Amino acid sequence: MPVHYASETGFIPQLLKLAKKYSLRVVEDAARSFAGFRNGERIGKVDDVICFSFDGIKNITSGKGGAIVTSNAALLERVKGGCLLGGEKDSEKRFTGERSWDFNVSNQGFRFHMSNIMAAIGREHLKKADGFIQIKKQAVTQYIVLLSSVKDIECLQHKVEQNAPHIFVIKVLNDKRDYLMHTLRELGIQCGIHYQPNHYLKLYKSNDSLPNTELVAKQILTLPLHTELQKDDVTYVVGSRVKLLGEYNA
Ligand SMILES: *Cc1c(COP(=O)(O)O)cnc(C)c1O
Repeated sequence: MPVHYASETGFIPQLLKLAKKYSLRVVEDAARSFAGFRNGERIGKVDDVICFSFDGIKNITSGKGGAIVTSNAALLERVKGGCLLGGEKDSEKRFTGERSWDFNVSNQGFRFHMSNIMAAIGREHLKKADGFIQIKKQAVTQYIVLLSSVKDIECLQHKVEQNAPHIFVIKVLNDKRDYLMHTLRELGIQCGIHYQPNHYLKLYKSNDSLPNTELVAKQILTLPLHTELQKDDVTYVVGSRVKLLGEYNA
């Protein structure tokens, strides 16, 4: 179940190859990469199963909800039924106003179906998806250019042309991540950490050491990225950071 972290999907083809070799299924968590591309094709042109989220903070939203895309017809039937109480071949009928009273249930069902109100919001947002992405791509490009000359700050490797950017994460290499984060917040610049490692959380607590994860967890910082971010805002964010680190010489 690979996550398209920060909308990046470059590693997926390799993973699919590995999965094929060992006859494994791949369920891609594409919650954050809706409207992006991989190898020139829209993400969603499926290899196995891809899940999108239309939660309020995602690339487009329907308020809540999401979508599962698969080329596996049997699985698709099961998902459709499972979303609406497990009734087999019944969900489509219901959405056209019909209803069968003699349906069958052979798998666990849930109430995960999208309401018409949410779908209406989602359909409107869908029209705006590419426009939203363009705005965020411009901001990401600007960030990368401005940050390229800042010492001790590293951008993740972004395929800006292809990706639908959702969050903009940098690595602070000089052990001053927390200082930077708190100071930026004091300046009214929101920033955060995506994410704490799972093995730090109570539920998954483990004494195993994951040195690479733990190193990166201390470095990552997410900078503002949204559809109302203006050029001047990006300059302000970078300018503030630069002043703090005292390293900028553009
Ligand atoms: C938001 C998000 C989810 C959850 O999506 P829901 O629509 O809330 O179920 C899962 N994975 C990632 C990476 C996300 O960002």
